[in-house]
Parts: sequence; C-alpha cells; structure tokens
Amino acid sequence: MRALGGLVLDLLGLAVEVTLRLPGLLWRLAVGAYDFLGARWALRGGALHCPDGHELPLEGEFECAACGYRYRGSALLCGNVECRAITPYLNCACGLSVRNPYRWGRP
Ligand SMILES: [Zn+2]
Ligand SMILES: [Zn+2]
Repeated sequence: MRALGGLVLDLLGLAVEVTLRLPGLLWRLAVGAYDFLGARWALRGGALHCPDGHELPLEGEFECAACGYRYRGSALLCGNVECRAITPYLNCACGLSVRNPYRWGRP
C-alpha cells in the first residue's frame, strides 16, 4: 500500500498548494475583473474618458513617447512598425491621465 500512501501524500500536497495559492489567484481574478470593468467604463460610447469625464480621441495624430515617431492612427499603438509601442496611458487636456484600457492587471 506504499503507492497508495504516496498518492494520498501527493493529493494532500496538491490541496495545500491550491489552498496557499488560492488567495493570490482570487486576487488576480478580482484585479482583472476590476480593470476589465474600468476599461469598459473608460471606453463608454466608443471614446476614452478621463476621470473627470472628458473625451479623449483614440484616433488622430500622435507622437510616440517611446521613439518620438509622429503618425496618424491609434492613440494606443505607435504607428512606427519598428517600435509598435503600446501606450501605457494618455494625458487629458485637463491634466489627468487615463490608463490604456487594453492594458490590464498589475505588475
Ligand atoms: Zn514608437
Ligand atoms: Zn480630463
């Protein structure tokens, strides 16, 4: 019955591991859901909104903060094919920043 004992120990170890990791998993799930809902809210009506409710255009002419490339297109993705930087956030004219709604989670 050695094999069975080993199996039980394995299952116990697995149970302990799941129990220890569950809070972290739930936290990540909660953060993910929160960011998802926040992104949906910031993008309401097809435009991005700053915390004060101003609309930020997602299409237009922008300068990439990473490479300095000036382009016409999406505010969230650099138009330089060699860069393709994903914009981490946009600055509203009122001085507040809005995170890129397509970037979820925390580091
Ligand atoms: Zn760039
Ligand atoms: Zn604003």
